[in-house]
Amino acid sequence: MALVGAGGRFLITGGAGFIGSHLTELLLSEGHEVVVLDALSTGQLANLGSVQDHPELRFVQGSVLDELVVDELVHECDVVVHLAAVVGVRLVVEQPLRSFITNIRGTENVITAAHRYKRKLLVASSSEIYGKNGHGPLSELSDRIVGPPTVSRWAYATAKAVDEVLALAYNRERGLPTVVVRLFNTVGPRQSPAYGMVIPRLVRQALAGDALTVYGSGNQTRCFCHVLDVVPALRSLLDDDRAIGEVFNIGSTEEISIRELAERVIAATGSSSTIRLVPYEEAYSAGFEDMERRLPDTTKINQLIGWAPTRNLSHILEDAITDARQPTPTAAG
Ligand code: UDP
Repeated sequence: MALVGAGGRFLITGGAGFIGSHLTELLLSEGHEVVVLDALSTGQLANLGSVQDHPELRFVQGSVLDELVVDELVHECDVVVHLAAVVGVRLVVEQPLRSFITNIRGTENVITAAHRYKRKLLVASSSEIYGKNGHGPLSELSDRIVGPPTVSRWAYATAKAVDEVLALAYNRERGLPTVVVRLFNTVGPRQSPAYGMVIPRLVRQALAGDALTVYGSGNQTRCFCHVLDVVPALRSLLDDDRAIGEVFNIGSTEEISIRELAERVIAATGSSSTIRLVPYEEAYSAGFEDMERRLPDTTKINQLIGWAPTRNLSHILEDAITDARQPTPTAAG
């Protein structure tokens, strides 16, 4: 077995996913050992292609629903980063049961194992928990405004909120050293277009000369943050004991409407594509509700660790275009 690095051994659930693979690379570059647990449902081994032969990386194909595997791996590691989840609006809407069970039971398995072995744990939550609250910048204490649980999107928001409640209750009542992060629209290389995420989809449509599908009016806004800004934020929070028991928004504050985003994608790719407005019921299903606005207040993380994104939307689009032009990766290993 490899030696424990200076910062110990990290377990990353969902480590073959989009964000997880970038975090894995960062930790390995710092000289740490990394164990990745990934079911390869939305993640893929090709995401770890650049580090697949790294002597300090161990990959375990498995689910966070498998209590025994989770128990064993948490036991072996010093720090746990829980990123494994069913993500992407499309999956959440189309497979609500899978989404709900993975996101609640899987997280509970990870949290209880971390508690059993007294491991430091970072739990990834989502800006989805704010639901329809579009009133200006959302701080960590802003209200959640969600519709009925019969709508899959709100069921997902509820599952992520339950994850937070569980993590924080284990911290307050049982001393689990845990940090919760709420990720807002993270984008960058390796983000798959398959699960509905807008930038990889629009970029591929533009490069193919297809119409860019803008859902609804296109007036809804989002703020996109580069994964290479997000991952160092996770890393720094793990190193700072003042973050324990706290929740942090992580995201960009550069706000853009989706229609304008589509125009920027067309300009950046030099495409002759047009924009097609697609009603939500056609894109998803009847009764689908979108968030009109999702802008984070990131004062808390900025004040604690001085974090702010360094890459703007132009940089993000350039990287997304370069990534989309790469040949489709084949599964490695
Ligand atoms: N969207 C769009 N066209 C697409 C995919 C998404 O207009 O092909 C819209 C979607 O309705 C939402 C925004 O882009 O308003 C961001 O969608 P994404 O699924 O990337 O993230 P989220 O909805 O979680 O913010």
